[in-house]
Amino acid sequence: MRLVSFLWRQTDRVGAVWRQWVVDLPRAQKALGERLPLTDRRVPMRMLPFLEGGSPVLRAARRALRETTRLGRNSPLFRRVAHRLESVRLLAPIPRPRKNIICLGANYSDHALETGRAVPPHPVFFTKAPTAVVGPGEAITYHRCVRYLDYEVELALVVGKRGRDIARQDAYKHIAGYTILNDVSERGLQRRHEQWFKGKSLDTFAPMGPSLVTRNQVPDPNNLDLELRVNGELRQRSNTRNMVFKIPELVEHVSSGMTLDPGDIVSTGTPAGVGFTRVPPQYLKPGDIVEARIQRIGVLRNPVSLPRKGRRRFTENSVP
Ligand code: MG
Repeated sequence: MRLVSFLWRQTDRVGAVWRQWVVDLPRAQKALGERLPLTDRRVPMRMLPFLEGGSPVLRAARRALRETTRLGRNSPLFRRVAHRLESVRLLAPIPRPRKNIICLGANYSDHALETGRAVPPHPVFFTKAPTAVVGPGEAITYHRCVRYLDYEVELALVVGKRGRDIARQDAYKHIAGYTILNDVSERGLQRRHEQWFKGKSLDTFAPMGPSLVTRNQVPDPNNLDLELRVNGELRQRSNTRNMVFKIPELVEHVSSGMTLDPGDIVSTGTPAGVGFTRVPPQYLKPGDIVEARIQRIGVLRNPVSLPRKGRRRFTENSVP
């Protein structure tokens, strides 16, 4: 399934994308009533409780989706519980994660080298604040403190089952699915602070989506093409097979001594081609459109814009 969070009457709800439609899963389950087995678990309205429900909820959701689509898009029931994809506002699949987003630094050797660092002998973790998350189509804000705004396309995994000290051979059992994360970064703050938390955590600096593709639809997440374009121009292109630490190892490392909960997000790092390593550097500016694309997952598109309040005139940055 391609799970989405979408806005419906001021609240976020769980849906599944089917062709050009978003099926509201809890509503579909309710509407189908006796057509579904009585033993099916109730499908929660929002994504975090949905993921906490684990495979029984996933199974019930799949059944509700299958029955709804089997009735066909002209059936009254389908019409009641499905919305045209273009008519709903999609949110980030996890609109407000409970834990900081866990990210990998220098997990593609070409990116490590372009930043002047050695390929790390062990995974380097840092985090982004949950308040940084925005959904597909939402603006990346060019805040007043922003000077050197940069992009990073990344495959992110979403945890589906709680665990600690997860062995690499069990890693996939703990993954609900995959999404795209743009690890937006303010390079000036990163440099000034000598660690990355704030430069990676400004509001809107974690665009995520467009959907959470369940694990069964991504047989090999360690072999997916990924790319990023700015205004249509190719800036990053690689394949997740070039990751230094692959997903099973990452899960083993990050979960050693630290609990992962359903809905936690681990972003697996970015390949070469980021703005600040280009000659001359190519930073993002208001008006730009950033498109992150990953095979089997989709396209995450976000514009860059000045903050609504206290708009300032944009002037081209000098090279730091
Ligand atoms: Mg990154």
